[in-house]
Amino acid sequence: MLINFQFPILKQGTNRLAHRSRWPPCSLWLFDLLLPNIFPVSSELYFQTAAELGEMLATKKISAVELAQTIIERTKAIDGRVRAFNSFDESDALAQASASDARRAAGQARGPLDGIPVGLKDVISVAGQPLTASSKMLAQFVSPYDATVARKLREAGAVCWGRLNLDEFAMGSSTENSAFHVTSNPWDLARVPGGSSGGSAAAVAAGEAVVSLGSDTGGSIRQPAALCNLAGLKPTYGLVSRYGLIAFASSLDQIGPFGRTVEDVAITLGAIAGHDERDSTSFRTGIPDYRAELKKRRGPWKLGIPREYFGTGLDPEVGAAVQRAIDHYQKAGCAIKEVSLPHTEYGVAAYYIIATAEASSNLARYDGIRYGHRSKTATDILDLYFKSRAEGFGPEVKRRIILGTYVLSSGYYDAYYLRAQKVRTLIRQDFLKAYQEVDAILTPTSPTPAFRKGEKSADPLAMYLSDIYTITVNLAGLPGISIPCGFTGNGLPIGLQLIGQPYLEADLLAIARAYEQAHDWHTRHPKL
Ligand code: GLN
Repeated sequence: MLINFQFPILKQGTNRLAHRSRWPPCSLWLFDLLLPNIFPVSSELYFQTAAELGEMLATKKISAVELAQTIIERTKAIDGRVRAFNSFDESDALAQASASDARRAAGQARGPLDGIPVGLKDVISVAGQPLTASSKMLAQFVSPYDATVARKLREAGAVCWGRLNLDEFAMGSSTENSAFHVTSNPWDLARVPGGSSGGSAAAVAAGEAVVSLGSDTGGSIRQPAALCNLAGLKPTYGLVSRYGLIAFASSLDQIGPFGRTVEDVAITLGAIAGHDERDSTSFRTGIPDYRAELKKRRGPWKLGIPREYFGTGLDPEVGAAVQRAIDHYQKAGCAIKEVSLPHTEYGVAAYYIIATAEASSNLARYDGIRYGHRSKTATDILDLYFKSRAEGFGPEVKRRIILGTYVLSSGYYDAYYLRAQKVRTLIRQDFLKAYQEVDAILTPTSPTPAFRKGEKSADPLAMYLSDIYTITVNLAGLPGISIPCGFTGNGLPIGLQLIGQPYLEADLLAIARAYEQAHDWHTRHPKL
């Protein structure tokens, strides 16, 4: 491959390439060749950040086609073990990359994402590509159009790369509910990557994409980010258009980015955020230059610690790592204040009423008639509905449709759905009250590190509790980010969650980056 001739050497953990001219003197090459621990560049390039790669593309140290080839080779080499992808289209990615190179050659590069391969969760429409939601129901479906986020990525010059695995229709916390296959955690292939956006997290963690998009209804970006040592952001509800996102629970769903660093998340958010008239819940607000703001906003900040998030069920190693992060912020001059979010304990219950109610309505469209799986053995129209849905949906999706239909039924609506909506308002008020005193709230992201495959799949309630710290953020419509904050004794990543104020992503990202810059967790990569 061409790239190996041009950049044969880049050692693990260094970024010398970024400071190097395109054709260094021969003696330097020889010197490098004599060093131990030499990796061909393609084995390191895929662990560079979007910011670093953007710089290398801008200074013509690499081409977008070389970068795309590296990512494709990496994916082919390891995805048999990680299984992050449902599908990918090599020639389409190379064509996008070559268009990026042509733009750059003509002096028309579009910014930091031009030529960067971005993975997309397989619930986000990309015109002409499969769109399955990891469900048998949509196994043969091809997107007729681009989601707004896909269109915006293209406008930013990014290379849309691959369809990433998830829990069927984004329902789950481990990616084990996919109808196709289970994705492995790149840090320990016997464990789950988290979910539902497990494919999006595993792909970036394993070097199969530079950044990726997921969707987060109750934690599906932040929890897998925590379990895979990545930064993952759920933006404020309404900041990123949901047009072209397969709906799970429309009042909770948000698309957001995964990256190796907070800066990569800021760059990607900048590309996808903004008002969209095709989404009636899209908010009209100015979109700051999130990346530039990272450097301008320096604190010190007031950070709230909600006591309700540090009780039973929290793994001691996770608790200790989060405590060290709190101590770090304090030493760095931030004011740490205990706050109370008294309705937290009702979060999971309210979520599983509201999310399932909305899901039962959203999933009514899969009737075997208009699109999606159609039973071949049905005898009449009712039989066609029943059989198509019975064959097309997996057990977790069925459980949710049944639960959602029940809580919306006339005799129970007031007791469940209406009451859950009231609790939702109380949860939001808790946060807004806390924000009168603090700038952001700091909690663990997930109560445990990555668990073993199969460990929780027989017990839906145990699985639902994986999102106990993330769910309230969706109910309140707030932005939340998870960033790496350490490892357990057996080498599993731990995530720190920072919860921000509505539409103040620029502050939230700056607070997260202040921690990241003082630590090196994010520079560690799984050995695969
Ligand atoms: N794990 C939660 C659920 O199963 C959240 C999923 C999500 O955010 N998409 O509903």
